[in-house]
Formats: sequence, C-alpha cells, structure tokens
Amino acid sequence: MLKNYFCSKCRTLVERESQPVSNNCLGKGMHQWVNIAPVGDKTYQCGKCGVMVNVNASPISNNRPEGGAHRWQRI
Ligand SMILES: [Zn+2]
Ligand SMILES: [Zn+2]
Repeated sequence: MLKNYFCSKCRTLVERESQPVSNNCLGKGMHQWVNIAPVGDKTYQCGKCGVMVNVNASPISNNRPEGGAHRWQRI
C-alpha cells in the first residue's frame, strides 16, 4: 500500500510503500520523513503550509515544518 511521506524540513511529499532514504534533503542533511496517511482518493490541503495530500484516512497533524501542527482541510 502506498503511503504519503512528508519531509518536515524541505516539505517534499512522496508516495512510497516504505520509508524513503533519508539522505540528500534539500533543507540540508537528512530528510525527516513522516508517514502522513495511506494514499487514497480524499484530498486534504494544509491551511498553514499549503501542502496537498491524497489520502484514504484523516492525515496526521503533527510535524509541520515550522513546528506545531498541520491544519488539514478536506477539499
Ligand atoms: Zn527533506
Ligand atoms: Zn502544514
């Protein structure tokens, strides 16, 4: 099953079956991948950082780049 992995440092979102490699983060050093939710047909956008994800369940809210929580809104 594909999952949405989001790097809280460089804000890259990728769809992978397992956690991507951590090197070569654009924000320097290692990516900090967070498994937001499995990939599905529901689209959510974060009202804070603007990231959009396609998920099959409510995306998790922690680990926003600036700290604090994402504010997901279904669109
Ligand atoms: Zn990164
Ligand atoms: Zn966010």
